[in-house]
Amino acid sequence: MEPTYSADAEAYRDKVQAFLAEKLPSDWGGIGRLEGQELTDFVAWWRGVLYEAGYLAPSWPVEYGGGGLSALEQVIIGEEFARAGVPTGGPNDVFGIQMLGNTLLVWGTDEQKAHYLPRILSGADRWCQGYSEPNAGSDLGSLALRATLDGDQWVLNGQKIWTSAGHLADHIFTLARTDPDAPKHKGISFLLVDLRQPGIDVRPIRMISGESEFNEVFYTDAVCPKDEVVGGVNNGWAVAMSLLGYERGEAAATMPIRFQAELDRLLILAKERGLDQDPLIRQRLAWCYAKVQVMRYLGMRTLTRFLAGHHPGPDGAITKLYWSEYHRIVTELAVDILGAPALAPEGRRPSTAFQTDDAGAPNSSASWVNTFLNARAGTIYAGSSQIQRNIIGEMVLGLPKEPKAPTAPAPA
Ligand SMILES: Cc1cc2nc3c(=O)[nH]c(=O)nc-3n(C[C@H](O)[C@H](O)[C@H](O)COP(=O)(O)OP(=O)(O)OC[C@H]3O[C@@H](n4cnc5c(N)ncnc54)[C@H](O)[C@@H]3O)c2cc1C
Repeated sequence: MEPTYSADAEAYRDKVQAFLAEKLPSDWGGIGRLEGQELTDFVAWWRGVLYEAGYLAPSWPVEYGGGGLSALEQVIIGEEFARAGVPTGGPNDVFGIQMLGNTLLVWGTDEQKAHYLPRILSGADRWCQGYSEPNAGSDLGSLALRATLDGDQWVLNGQKIWTSAGHLADHIFTLARTDPDAPKHKGISFLLVDLRQPGIDVRPIRMISGESEFNEVFYTDAVCPKDEVVGGVNNGWAVAMSLLGYERGEAAATMPIRFQAELDRLLILAKERGLDQDPLIRQRLAWCYAKVQVMRYLGMRTLTRFLAGHHPGPDGAITKLYWSEYHRIVTELAVDILGAPALAPEGRRPSTAFQTDDAGAPNSSASWVNTFLNARAGTIYAGSSQIQRNIIGEMVLGLPKEPKAPTAPAPA
């Protein structure tokens, strides 16, 4: 673990800080201060600024519109953006840039890279992720959406579910069963599908918070060209796992910054509510402080490995389990500190359902209650806590495999 950066890296940090000072308004206090149309307009404008500067995908090759920067420079950009409270992209960029783009760089054909990567960065194509199905979540290998080759195109029938930001997307990377007779992980292909066609129906799902962040996607004789397969026909499982394992080291560095800022805001809330001297609340706050410190050290360890060229494999499950379980507990504490006002939340709500509210957000009850509700989802998406524990046990610690349920005896 290497907790300090080199002098060169610190010099690059000055450059990023100068960029932020030049581009952001002088009274900038974090994106959490904005809401409604002002927020939407800022994100659209800021995405354009990042695109022009090559900061949307800092480490992608310049020929595809990236910044051509090193992994360390990418991490420093992420850290400084998190401190300044500005996003690193728009709502669908986590799917387009972080997931699909990085995967295409590894698995895509030259034609796919040349066509799709610049379009992802320019915002011409907005992507979402079509993995989960009603009967295939944790057991993703059981997916049943069928793709059949008909001449020079695939014909798709079936359903995806929990498709985040699908209503804002125009393309979906889809895992489909292309060989129903092969063993379940061997008959899957990774297809690039245009959502704008009559055979696709995207239906938003209303969440407990009242918002609709994710969707059901129905495919009824939907089509995609034969060549829009990534990594080869029936090789989709390897591509899908590669995409799931793709996590920028930047996240390891930025996540503790976000969780520390959230905890600082919670301390202010405890003071405002006159609970900062309550011994039980103090004990719970101290527990949260210790967890955020551990997260910092976990982040440094991941970052050190990332900068040495190791992309997170199964050990990414440790970080995922750690932050998501912590966030469930810290937001429960926030709701306890709020007390009765948590039953009728007021004020500005979080702009995103993922992780903490944005930097600069006011200490409104609606901010905390909605973050509390969304924190429950954090222990489910990107693999549930039980699945992370299985991965840690079996693939990190090398413990024996989970016992299979006994099969029923054959009928007499
Ligand atoms: C907010 C949110 C956004 C999402 N966005 C997307 C998206 O954009 N695209 C996408 O494709 N999917 C998305 N998902 C789906 C997500 O990947 C699945 O919900 C998740 O993988 C769990 O699958 P499931 O919901 O089918 O639950 P199930 O797999 O049915 O699990 C039910 C329960 O059983 C437990 N369980 C299952 N198997 C085991 C086991 N072997 N050992 C121990 N316990 C087990 C689980 O932990 C869970 O508690 C999203 C989910 C959420 C909540």
